[in-house]
Amino acid sequence: MSRLILALDQGTTSSRALLFDHEGRVVATEQHEFPQSFPQSGWVEHDPEDIWESQLRAARGVLERAQVTAADLAAVGVTNQRETAIVWERESGRPIHPAIVWQSRQTAELCQGLRDRGLEDDIRARTGLVIDSYFSGPKVRFILDVVEGAQARAEAGELCFGTVDSWLLYKLTAGRVHATEYSNASRTLLFNIHEKSWDDVLLGYLDLPRAMLPEVRDSSGDFGVTAEHWLGGEVPIAGMAGDQQSALFGQGCFETGMVKNTYGTGCFLLMNTGHQPATSDSGLLTTIAWGIDGEVEYALEGSVFVAGAAIQWLRDGLGLIDHASESEAAAVRVSEMDGVYLVPAFTGLGAPYWDEEARGVMVGLNRGTTRDHVIRAGLESIAYSSRDVVDCMVSDADLALETLRVDGGACENDFLMQFQADMLGCAVERPAVLEVTALGAAALAGLAVGFWNDRSHLERARGARTRFEPRLGETERDRRLAGWRQAVARSRGAAPGG
Ligand code: ADP
Repeated sequence: MSRLILALDQGTTSSRALLFDHEGRVVATEQHEFPQSFPQSGWVEHDPEDIWESQLRAARGVLERAQVTAADLAAVGVTNQRETAIVWERESGRPIHPAIVWQSRQTAELCQGLRDRGLEDDIRARTGLVIDSYFSGPKVRFILDVVEGAQARAEAGELCFGTVDSWLLYKLTAGRVHATEYSNASRTLLFNIHEKSWDDVLLGYLDLPRAMLPEVRDSSGDFGVTAEHWLGGEVPIAGMAGDQQSALFGQGCFETGMVKNTYGTGCFLLMNTGHQPATSDSGLLTTIAWGIDGEVEYALEGSVFVAGAAIQWLRDGLGLIDHASESEAAAVRVSEMDGVYLVPAFTGLGAPYWDEEARGVMVGLNRGTTRDHVIRAGLESIAYSSRDVVDCMVSDADLALETLRVDGGACENDFLMQFQADMLGCAVERPAVLEVTALGAAALAGLAVGFWNDRSHLERARGARTRFEPRLGETERDRRLAGWRQAVARSRGAAPGG
């Protein structure tokens, strides 16, 4: 009897594999880091073979750790770092260039070229995205430009493009399947999210041949089987989704208006907007959450550039703490902030301000300000910035927020979660099991093969929830938010020469 689902969680710095049992419990995990390459300032690349090998090692390792075999697996689910682009030879499976990672800025000039051609509005209307190096399409153009003969080979159908899900799928099936799914496709700048298909106009803007694109399938469904030699038996690959969308699914945000926030280095907020894509007036992205049974659901996405990174700065830049977790004790020692705010706009400000000339500021310092105030101001900034993004979502989607579902490393901080509830004026809900990204991929796969028949197991899998209810009155909340906005105003244009 197959009794487990294998989830592969391919991240930016490491590849992980997790086994989930029928109750949705994590039975075992295995993780392998792989090298990062920074060939020039602002460039980030991976060797696609490192991605694959570390992922395969993690998959084999987790089976060994749990003392199980392929026969114990009902299905494999995949979730992945999004937007990273890989081009490989269809016949040999050999990549023709390193993977260009989502963070990499090497296509900045190419993107500026698209903007200069006045394509921003049309691209936004078709893809829900803005023109930015972040997304995959320009990265593919870059690869075809720098590798000799690549354009002609791509046109002849000899080359495959894929995001990391697609690459892993191709490897797992020993080259038999070249496919992706809706959530990853919607991050390429090549996919029309309304027509739910690759868009010839977009392909034309970047002069990319259709012949190199993967087939787009449902996020939960049939992606083929793993080649026998990898795991010692064939296992159906039955679910795939980009990491943020997978977390939205793992968090059980199935109803319109439900929002999750992942508190990591940055924050990633996604709101389910149901079968209708919401257009953003505040610069948020419209994206596909997943496609199931041919039906696509949409999400609004916003991010906070500096979240946990502000705590890293308190630790490494200022040396105020030794471990991020110490920030909590420091924050609760402070009884009154007296108007002290930290705006960690180290790289500018995102939604709704969109100011590249902003830089970090600290305001309201007085003779009684202590180290603990500074630390607490860092934590509070994460909650204020998240509230700013939630405000954009609520207004763009015209939906009220009832509860914020949270995950990610920094959500373990109770002070931060309580403060977040206070600043949102709604409950914040933290699952006992924080592996919601992998759980999402496992669920997409498990539902497709009938391992789970409905989504109720997800509720059990996340375990007992901790709910943080808002305790502050509205007047006090408004007072603090007003102070935050004033502090943000001081950070605008604070870059040298800005
Ligand atoms: P990522 O996936 O982006 O690497 P993680 O989800 O692992 O991030 O979370 C790590 C981030 O969260 C770090 O930036 C760290 O500073 C922050 N962090 C971790 N634990 C805490 C804590 N208890 N309080 C505040 N911040 C924390």
